[in-house]
Amino acid sequence: MTDWSRTVGVALQDVRFNTTQNVLEVGGRVVLDLLKASPAYVYDGPSVAMRLSRLRRLLDDRIRIRYAVKANPFPNLLRYLVPLVDGFDVASSAEIAAVLAAGATPGSLSLAGPGKSAALLEDAATNQVVISVESETELHRLAATARQLGSRPPILLRINPTFTLRGSGMHMAGQGSPFGIDSENARAVLADLPDELDFRGFHVFCASQCLSTEALIEAHGKIGDLISSLAASADRTVSTVCIGAGFGIPYFPGDEPFNLGAVAECLNAVALRLSREHADVNIQLEMGRFLVGEAGIYLCTVTDKKYSRGEVFLITNGGMHHHLAASGNLGQVLKRNYPVCIANRLEADEHERVTVTGPLCTPLDVLARGVLLPKAEVGDTVAIFQSGAYGLSASPTGFLGHPLPAEILLES
Ligand SMILES: *Cc1c(COP(=O)(O)O)cnc(C)c1O
Repeated sequence: MTDWSRTVGVALQDVRFNTTQNVLEVGGRVVLDLLKASPAYVYDGPSVAMRLSRLRRLLDDRIRIRYAVKANPFPNLLRYLVPLVDGFDVASSAEIAAVLAAGATPGSLSLAGPGKSAALLEDAATNQVVISVESETELHRLAATARQLGSRPPILLRINPTFTLRGSGMHMAGQGSPFGIDSENARAVLADLPDELDFRGFHVFCASQCLSTEALIEAHGKIGDLISSLAASADRTVSTVCIGAGFGIPYFPGDEPFNLGAVAECLNAVALRLSREHADVNIQLEMGRFLVGEAGIYLCTVTDKKYSRGEVFLITNGGMHHHLAASGNLGQVLKRNYPVCIANRLEADEHERVTVTGPLCTPLDVLARGVLLPKAEVGDTVAIFQSGAYGLSASPTGFLGHPLPAEILLES
């Protein structure tokens, strides 16, 4: 860990956040000078580009990298990503529209998610989106849409394997699941695919936020085996396979980044095998958090400082209505603090244990609990790291009606 990483408690990788004069900087500029308003999310484009180039250096050229829009759909970020990634994974008509408005080529989109409505399927089919079909109901609903449109939409079968990705923050497979078709039923579904649909291949996505190198290697080996055996029994040309990824980033003290080099070696072996078995197969990884999570910070201003029964509270103009994940209310079992600092006072002689809250009338509105920080004052700026993914768009912005934060993308 660098000294800087020690300040925030986790090792940040591929980011331009730094410090020289006791203030938070990004790409050599003082973060606070870049802000026109507070609260704000600041996303650093070049940090995302650095992350992508490390991925590309380690991964076989055959492996395409797709961006899962739900991680962060900020329009400027989507536009920035269009020339950098190989495609976009969307989940709704709004995400399809946002990605197309950002300039993505229509053929580069794919759609996943349970319970797709006829309207969504029609929208996807009309816009040449590759559709991951997740149930037999969807298969027949899409076939009906295709008949109406007189088109032959490209599909992947999303498969729910019997295994999952161990050590991940959120599971979407392995047991009973609303996601995908159970692998044991896949052959029957394949044998009976409606002619109206243009079968392209398979999609397996097990879980999110995995930091275990061993678990990632084990799961991707199994995903390779599963796809290989399904494809062999498909009796159809398999031209596209989406094989994960579930890559996590460190959020909490003690979290360590997984070994990307070792995981890439395993993925390269899977890619080599699949491409030997199916000439010209398009092999895809899809990820959100790993591409943009570390490149974003959330900033808010201390509006009050209270001493109450021996505790110190920094009350800010930001909170869970902007950043539900940092408040621990987005799928965290134990509430732990995201890495946090005082952006205008990184080091100080005096430190203080404080609880950082927002302005909402609920005890859930806590951004950091009992964290040791340089002694802060009203007017100081709190910065929360690892905030580039599942931040604003995953937060209850309507709750209590306070203003929205600004969002800024740095492009250089
Ligand atoms: C959410 C999701 C992703 C992205 O997950 P990250 O943890 O952000 O990388 C990828 N694929 C599918 C199908 C998803 O639902």
